[in-house]
Formats: sequence, structure tokens, C-alpha cells
Amino acid sequence: MKIHEYQAKKILAGYGVPVPQGSAAFTVDEAIKAGTDLGSFPVVVKAQIHAGGRGKGGGVKLAKSADELKMFASQILGMQLVTHQTGPVGQKVQRLLIEQGMKIDKEFYAGILLDRAQSKDVFMVSTEGGMDIEEVASKTPEKIIKVTIDPSAGFQPHHARRLAFALGLSGKALKSATDCFTKLYKAYCAADCNLLEINPLILSGEDIIALDAKVTFDDNALDRHPEYAELRDLSEEDPAEIEASKSNLNFIKLDGNIGCMVNGAGLAMATMDIIKLHGGDPANFLDVGGGANAQTVSAAFKIILSDQNVKAILINIFGGIVRCDRVAAGVIEAAKSEHVHVPVVVRLEGNNADLARTMLTESGLNLQAATDLTDAATKACAAVKG
Ligand code: GDP
Ligand code: MN
Repeated sequence: MKIHEYQAKKILAGYGVPVPQGSAAFTVDEAIKAGTDLGSFPVVVKAQIHAGGRGKGGGVKLAKSADELKMFASQILGMQLVTHQTGPVGQKVQRLLIEQGMKIDKEFYAGILLDRAQSKDVFMVSTEGGMDIEEVASKTPEKIIKVTIDPSAGFQPHHARRLAFALGLSGKALKSATDCFTKLYKAYCAADCNLLEINPLILSGEDIIALDAKVTFDDNALDRHPEYAELRDLSEEDPAEIEASKSNLNFIKLDGNIGCMVNGAGLAMATMDIIKLHGGDPANFLDVGGGANAQTVSAAFKIILSDQNVKAILINIFGGIVRCDRVAAGVIEAAKSEHVHVPVVVRLEGNNADLARTMLTESGLNLQAATDLTDAATKACAAVKG
């Protein structure tokens, strides 16, 4: 689950991480009030969207006066902000963060994430902050310094010092950095984050301050944080993905034209691969879960059909826990009620698969029963071409 920068900063501030003073604004008037409350200029007007690269896209501006603040707030609020992370359509800006403008002496990078290969958290810093960290990672990886944190021992003072030394800090700034790193790691663990990224982390005089903040929560831990519910901004999420999460379907929209409905994440990946292998393009990843029934199948149909690009649907269900004839009955019922207007190829394997195939062919609907995965992929790819 993603949250906005201003929400992330509020959480970090709760753990003592130094962040600039500021507040969120939903209208130009609120922005002016927030700026006035700060008491002095410059103030920074920052677009709040769930994507980075806002600075380059024109979503972060430094206002030196009340007039400039009003001008930038009016410009940015409501704009369709395009960054390298939003895709060409961009994302509409509906919230701003109005913040005190900081004097920047140096821009660093700091990030914490789980390294799955080591099963340990990794804390990284770089002197090359403020810019595209992916580019630093690929062109000059030696400029990213990492420490791996043993979960039984936790984050140690020597970790903090190693990271701060790597940034070339000394004296008061070094102490400020080690304090900040310790608090960042504490926040990362306590808030159940799976990513915490500060880019830039700045040196302002002798103080280390988090000027930007990106926080992603581990979805598996959301049950432990009922307070996060109000942080969710549905307008930043794909409507089809929201619909899917209501029905407990695992759905990710993609760019192709063959809609996929599959039980099990592994089978869903294999289905997408085999579609590609036969020259097609999947329109989505969709895992309906182990107990596929008429309700889940019809919810899945609705979501897949809401995508205008979909020209055919491939249903690939393995009847291990569920019986194929029950799934077939669900597919038939759902296909009738959802007015499915595209060809549907169905591959059911497992318990009662033969009975299921007979039911599909005799249904009188536009359903093609496939014998195996290759047959299914061939038929689905032919359906979109023809
Ligand atoms: P991003 O582009 O989405 O990552 O947004 P950031 O929060 O990182 O802001 C982009 C850039 O705006 C930063 O790298 C800074 O150079 C600049 N910026 C942001 N806040 C301030 C500020 O308070 N003072 C100054 N001088 N520049 C700022
Ligand atoms: Mn940034």
C-alpha cells in the first residue's frame, strides 16, 4: 500500500525524524493559509501523487512570495502531472504539500528495504542524492553504500556510523545523521514498511533533514494497523484493481488484449507466459484464488470486461480443491449474466474435467473448451487475430 509524501512525513516525524514543517492543502485557499501559517518565505509547493520524479515534471516549486505561492498552487492543483513513473497519461494532482523552504547544502539518498535474497533488511545511502537513484545504481553502483541488518541483533550504532561516514560527514552533522538513521530504521520496522526512501536527505547547515519521503507498507501487515485505512487514497489507484480487491481477487492491469482468469498465482504467471509464447499479449494478471465459484468468476468477468482493450478471454482453472464442473457452471452462469461479448476460451483440468468440457460445449454460449494449455493459448491468440 502506497501513501503520500505528507502522510509519510507525519509518520516519520512521530519517530523523531527531522522533516520540514508543513501541511497538506486540497484547495488554493488552503494552500495560501498553510503558507501564511508557516510565517516566512520561501515555501515549497509540492504535488502529492503516488509517483516520484515530480520535481522534473513541474510538480515541485519554490515560492518566494504570497503571490508566487498562489500562482504555483493554482498551476499545480488539478494539473495532469507526467513523470517517468506515471506513464504518458500522468496523474491528476488533487492534493498539495505546502512546506517551509529549506536551505540545501548537500543532497543525499537514504533507503531501507527488505533484501529477499538475504532475508534481511538493507539500509543504503549515497552521496548522489536528489537524482534518479536507479541511474546511480546502474552506472555507478560503487556510490551506493549498503549495510545489512541482522534481524536478531537489529540496527546497531556501528551501522549508523558506517552510513554517516560514507556520506563524508563529521562533527555535529555526523551525530545528526546517526540519530536520523536510527530513527528511520525504527520507523521502518514499527510501521511495517517494505520500502522507506528519502531522496533527498539533505544537509542544511549541520542538520540532517528528510526533504522527501516515500513509504510503502507491507500489505500483509495491514491487519496490524487499522489506522492506515484513512491514509489510503483510492483516486491514486486503478479503479479495476480497487474493484478486484473488494472481491479478494489478485488483479494487475497490463497493456495487452487477452483477458486472463486463472486460479493460483503460479498458474497465472505460466498462463501469461504461454500467451506471449504464442504471439499474444495478456491484458491482465488475475488470480481468482483457490475456491473459484460463480460469484468470484462473475466478479472477475466484470473486471476483465471493463477493460476496453480486451478482445478475448482465457480462463485457465486447475480443479484441485474445486471441482471443474462447479467452475464450469459458474462460468456459464456468469457468462449469461455479464453479457460477455468477446470469445472465451476455457481450459479446465483436474476433478471432473470431462464433464466440465461437455457442459461448456453444450451451453450454447460463445465458450470454446480447450484441452490443454497450448491449445488454450493457441485458441485465445487466434481469437484476437481473427
Ligand atoms: P520528487 O522529484 O518527486 O522526488 O520530489 P522531491 O521532494 O525530491 O523534490 C524535488 C526537488 O525539489 C528536490 O530534489 C530539491 O532539489 C527541490 N526541493 C524540494 N524541497 C525543497 C526546499 O525546501 N528547498 C529547496 N531549495 N529545494 C527544494
Ligand atoms: Mn525525491
